[in-house]
This record gives sequence, C-alpha cells and structure tokens, in this order.
Amino acid sequence: MKHLLPLLASFALATTAFAQRDFSQIEIKTIPVAKNIHMLEGAGGNIGVSVGKDGILIVDDQFAPMAEKIDAALKKLDSGKLRFLLNTHWHGDHTGGNAHFGAKDTDIIAHVNVRKRLAAKADAKPAELPVITFDQGASVHFNGEEIKLIALAPGHTDGDSVVWFTGANVVHMGDQFFNGRFPYIDLASGGDVRGYMKNVETVLKQIPADAKVIPGHGALATVEDLKAFHAMMVETVGLVEKAIAAGKSLDDVKAAGVPEKYKEWGSGFINTSRYLEITYNSLAKK
Ligand SMILES: [Zn+2]
Repeated sequence: MKHLLPLLASFALATTAFAQRDFSQIEIKTIPVAKNIHMLEGAGGNIGVSVGKDGILIVDDQFAPMAEKIDAALKKLDSGKLRFLLNTHWHGDHTGGNAHFGAKDTDIIAHVNVRKRLAAKADAKPAELPVITFDQGASVHFNGEEIKLIALAPGHTDGDSVVWFTGANVVHMGDQFFNGRFPYIDLASGGDVRGYMKNVETVLKQIPADAKVIPGHGALATVEDLKAFHAMMVETVGLVEKAIAAGKSLDDVKAAGVPEKYKEWGSGFINTSRYLEITYNSLAKK
C-alpha cells in the first residue's frame, strides 16, 4: 500500500489548486485549429476535438464540473455522437469528465498506466476508467484520417501520450507542453525531467514544421513555440545540473533563480521556485 501515498498526494496537488474555484463562472471557448480539428478552453487542460462524418472524438475532458458545458460546446460544433475520448494522462484536470462521458456511449482510450492510476484512486468510479488501453501506442481511424496515440517514456508522468492528427496536421501534446510556462513534472507519478525533455524531442522529430500544436495548458501554439519551450528547458535544466555537480543545495539553486528572459515563465500554475525544486529533485534522485 505504501506506493499509493505519493500517488494520492500527487493527485491532491493536481486538483486542490482548483478545488475552491467557482466553475459556474467559467465558459468554454471554442477555437478553430485546422480543417475539422478544434480546441476547447475552459478550466483545466485544453481539449482537442475532431468532428466529421464518423462523429466526434475528443482528447481530454478537464474537471468534472465542466462536463455538461463541454457537451453543449460539442453540440454547437456538430450534431454527431461523441464516440471516443482519448486521455493524454491521468491527472484530474484532464480526466475529470471521464465518469460523465464514460457512462454514455463514449469509449475511453488511454495508456495502460492511466487506467492503473485512475483505478487506484480512493473514489474511483468504473465509468471513468479507459476501456481500451495500450502501452506501445495505438491508432484510431476516424473522420478520414489516422489519429495516432504516441506513447511516451516517463516524462510528465509514467503514462503520457501525445495525439497526432496525421491528416489535419495537428498534435495535442497533453502536459508534455505548457505553452510559455514552466511545466509541472509529477515525480510521484513516475515523472522525470530528463525524460520530459526527451519526449518533446521525440515529438519534434515526428511532426512537420507547419503543424499546429495544442498544449496541455496555454494558448494554441506553433512548432516554433514548442521549440522555444524545449530550449528553455535545455538551458534551465542544464543550469540546475551544473549546480548539483558543483555541490550546491536546493536553496542555492532557488536563490540563483532562472535567467531574466525566463522570469515570465513562472507566472503560471508552476512558479519559478517550484519548477527549480521539481527539477532539482528529479535530477538528484539518480
Ligand atoms: Zn498533468
């Protein structure tokens, strides 16, 4: 049972920041991305949507109280049935609507570790669990294109996938991309800062330069934005690595901070001090 404690702690961290939030005031905003792909912004991770002759497929579903608003936003886009829900990873701001959608005619698909971690929650509901799981990747042939689920090595968690819409030329990065902000890396869920950076490189190698990029958090992005995010990590993680090699403590690293040009990246969910702490702890654990 010991392994459950960090798992529950990380889930609490991912959700308590929003627990006091008044979801009734939050509207869903629908943003066209490319061809038949849209992005929904609301509370929690960005949602990717495919609409077309086969119906609707979505990527992630935000917090539970947003589910009916998501339904309404999808209805405005298309009258088709919501057939598939893909989860990029298990965090509550990306899977909170699973129980709502899974209880209807929607099949949830995710990496095997997403199902494992959701099932281990104290309040797990059968309807929220993925019914189709994979560990090496999978494809959904839907609305005239191949939608690839690319399984990644441990990075943000140990069960992240990105979703590559091969025909529309769009990638949904899940939390392997925080646009213009420092990322959260969930060490208690098997995350790893070096793995996180490698995963971004893996995706950059597979997508064309003109692809549209949906980040887990932040505004709709380009490949250039994703490269800038990766460059920021290479530089800042490199600084922490050097500091550790020189025998510096976590307090030293926090006191040194990040280069001036990256200060603004700490204005999101993860501030500079927390980012440096996660990075230090991830590098130091080897
Ligand atoms: Zn996450």
